Amino acid sequence: MKTLPRDNARSEKLPNFINGQWKHSTAGDHLDVRDPATARVLATVPISPKAELDLAVAGASKAFIEWRRTPPTERVQYLFRLKQLLEENFEDIARTTTMECGKTLTESRGELRRGIENIETACGIPAMMQGYNSEDIAAGVDEFMLRQPVGVVAAITPFNFPSMIPLWFMPYALACGNTFIIKPSEKVPLTMQKLFALIEKTSMPKGVVQLVNGAREVVDGILDHPEVRAVSFVGSSPVAQYIYSRAAAKGKRAQCQGGAKNPAVILPDADLETTIGIVADSAFGCAGQRCLAISTAVTVGEAGKDFTQAIVEAAKRRRVGYGLEDGVEMGPVIREEAKSRIEDLIQKGVAEGAGLLVDGRKARIPGYEKGYFVKPTILKDVNPRGDIAKTEIFGPVLSLIHVNDLDEAIGMVNQGSYGNMASLFTRSGMAARKFRYEAQAGNIGINLGVAAPMAFFPFSGWKESFFGDLHAQGWDAIEFYTQKKVVIERWPKDWARKF
Ligand code: NAD
Repeated sequence: MKTLPRDNARSEKLPNFINGQWKHSTAGDHLDVRDPATARVLATVPISPKAELDLAVAGASKAFIEWRRTPPTERVQYLFRLKQLLEENFEDIARTTTMECGKTLTESRGELRRGIENIETACGIPAMMQGYNSEDIAAGVDEFMLRQPVGVVAAITPFNFPSMIPLWFMPYALACGNTFIIKPSEKVPLTMQKLFALIEKTSMPKGVVQLVNGAREVVDGILDHPEVRAVSFVGSSPVAQYIYSRAAAKGKRAQCQGGAKNPAVILPDADLETTIGIVADSAFGCAGQRCLAISTAVTVGEAGKDFTQAIVEAAKRRRVGYGLEDGVEMGPVIREEAKSRIEDLIQKGVAEGAGLLVDGRKARIPGYEKGYFVKPTILKDVNPRGDIAKTEIFGPVLSLIHVNDLDEAIGMVNQGSYGNMASLFTRSGMAARKFRYEAQAGNIGINLGVAAPMAFFPFSGWKESFFGDLHAQGWDAIEFYTQKKVVIERWPKDWARKF
């Protein structure tokens, strides 16, 4: 094993980071990591065998013995250092994310900033993981609740936020005294390579944090390994449900965030110009590959006509291209298969009776002819009972549905099987309160298109958008990554129990 020169990482097979060392996988299979804007191969990622995951778990178990004894005030010093290193290398990481994921540089910077905010929040762990106590629950008897780490924990993450989503988990897990294993998406492994190169520079003890690239074999290895005590997952709902069920069957804690189909309701009193800008950014930002993207706009009464006309113009205006170029507002989707899937779903919407107001298929971006581009697309009069109204498209496609009043709109919001986010655009406080009260979604936006909770709030998906009970980030993360121990102590003055 040797420490690899990180600058060469992109031109070679990517290594894993196990027990403090960069180590090439023995995997027979490697997948190409492609820049979605050019289809250029940036690197190859190993589909690591279970044996390498087992090595990581063994190292993490060993490291846990000392790490949990390291005072929280000392543990967070590594996070302070990591935050500083991330600030110093901010642009480099953001560029890497854009190259492997396709989103614009502004979007990559935005997600990294949100990731760093989680590190900052987790630096408060010395106070946040305190327990509580009661003196004299009986004469000479005191009772305490202490929080202790759960042990080796793991996270399995999706392609669409290569830096932010791992950081929803890693800082809290480590600060609480757990050792941590990450399996990033095999489609976007480069951002984690950069992050781990910085973790290495913090001199965090060997084995405390491990990177194992791969796919299903590593995931199943995590789910079945008796020493992995908790699993965090973010990805599509069928996989979230699978991971939740299998982890729970093995007695592990599991928090599994799934897919989404987010509606926005537009009332006639909403400020049209602001609303259009926000809805367009939400629907088409990150090429619609965001679990908080608005994918259905439900217009109410008079709002229908003006909103429809203005959103069509905004969709046509959006500048699509390579995310590293200035002025580009939307990049490609992740892979050729994703592009085909999105285009097929657009066709299905038309077959179900929707009108195609803007057709983003057959997008051709000069200089990037091999890229996986789909331009903004708008379907109107989408059948609320059809497949398109229910299916997560995960591309830059906005469906329009028109209703007569707010009650009908809320009914439309609540009929879906997902519950990640719902937004309302209005000037009415009364309508906003009713919506916030009745909408069945864990994240609510009022005059907001991407209601992404700050690091000190939980990311609260509901229904099929989440399997588990404790969410990512904030206090929920502390609850998830610690187990409570209650201690009752008797110290009577005369050292004897009286019967
Ligand atoms: P995905 O479910 O295909 O993959 C996610 C992770 O699971 C990857 O690491 C992948 O290697 C692994 N995986 C995939 N199939 C597996 C299987 N059969 N068994 C075991 N592991 C498997 O998701 P994706 O395409 O990478 O990401 C897009 C999805 O993630 C969308 O549905 C999106 O809504 C969702 N997402 C949700 C949130 C949220 O907070 N709710 C955030 C981001 C993305």
